[in-house]
Amino acid sequence: MPTFEEARRIILDRVAPLGVERVSILDALGRVIADDVTAPWDMPLCDNSAMDGFAVRAADCVSLPATLKVTGYIPAGGEVTGPVIRGCAIRIMTGAPVPPGCDAVVPIEETDDNGDSVTLKEPVKPRQHIRFRGEDVATGALIIPAGTLIRPPEISMLASFGKAIVPVYRKARVAILSTGDELIELGEPPVPGKIVNSNTLSLAAAVRECGAEPVSLGIARDDRDSHREKMIEGLKADAFITSAGVSAGDRDLVRDVLAELGVEQVFWRVDIKPGGPTAFAMFGEKPVFSLPGNPVSTMITFEEFARPAILKMMGHRRVLKPFVKAFLKEDAKKKPGKVNFLRVRIEVENGRYTASTSGDQNTGILRTMIRANGLAVLPRDATFVAAGTEVDVHLVGSDVEMLEG
Ligand code: AMP
Ligand code: MG
Repeated sequence: MPTFEEARRIILDRVAPLGVERVSILDALGRVIADDVTAPWDMPLCDNSAMDGFAVRAADCVSLPATLKVTGYIPAGGEVTGPVIRGCAIRIMTGAPVPPGCDAVVPIEETDDNGDSVTLKEPVKPRQHIRFRGEDVATGALIIPAGTLIRPPEISMLASFGKAIVPVYRKARVAILSTGDELIELGEPPVPGKIVNSNTLSLAAAVRECGAEPVSLGIARDDRDSHREKMIEGLKADAFITSAGVSAGDRDLVRDVLAELGVEQVFWRVDIKPGGPTAFAMFGEKPVFSLPGNPVSTMITFEEFARPAILKMMGHRRVLKPFVKAFLKEDAKKKPGKVNFLRVRIEVENGRYTASTSGDQNTGILRTMIRANGLAVLPRDATFVAAGTEVDVHLVGSDVEMLEG
């Protein structure tokens, strides 16, 4: 049985980025770029004004006040009509190309604008308020390295260089199969002894949150034929996740039928709680995650094992969520031998993070998952973790208050 850390390592070592596709620029948001992008031209493409004001020769503005004749006007997007000649200035707007002869721009606020002439009152430094050709990015410079996550700033850069189509790692299609005779679909009336198949939906939501594409296969009943039929479909996706039927009961058929279909088990059981019965297997290059059926276990094992793998398949380099160090607010008791994930609420108190249990930690209790914004990791061999102990807390969701700097 691998340890939690080993299990994660084994999974991440087995999966590799999927292929590359070319998408239109806005669809690249949240994806990982697959090739280096270099600048095909200088940015800016010409020396231009950083202010609304007057293009001048700094040498004409040495003794102040200096009055210069205004000989032209270059609006933003306008063209240069002629040079700045001695004793003269050209009215210029932000972004407009600076005319020849000019070596400085004087902001309009620092002048007396008389229409045909302008009087300068402040000292003028050569090069002031000019954005020089290539000062942001020079032709050929690497602007976005392969492996970068595309956010709005990367979109801005790509757009600035005319990159309408962007090579990104492909989205993973992740098949999801729930198993169990007790399951009914959402919308069917509740009956004692039956439960709504919520795992398909929580997993589909989690898959979508990773930026991947869920493919829901519905429910396999607790017989081999039903498992086989659905699993054949599931194995066509890039990754396959099953829920339930992975413990040691006689109706727990998932691992057996997967094996029959040629899926190679890599491990079964991990030293964690909840989520102990998790199995991981490979079908060729495709990972197969068999997660326990308890909704809390399903979500936690997805979070800790499946999510990083799916992100890696989509080219992400940072696949583990950030974690924080927090001080436990209550004592926690546990059995030795398993890493425990405690559902907690992280708060900021006196400039540090604290973690208080979100309530009943029984695996069957879903409501305490709702209140939790973190999973506190209690060490394998501990039997008692006293209040005040600092522990790692994996963040789940984003409603975590930031520590003030
Ligand atoms: P199993 O591992 O098959 O024994 O399933 C463990 C428990 O998880 C079951 O008793 C159900 O209560 C619950 N469960 C299994 N599958 C689902 C599902 N798709 N949606 C919600 N709960 C489930
Ligand atoms: Mg079952």
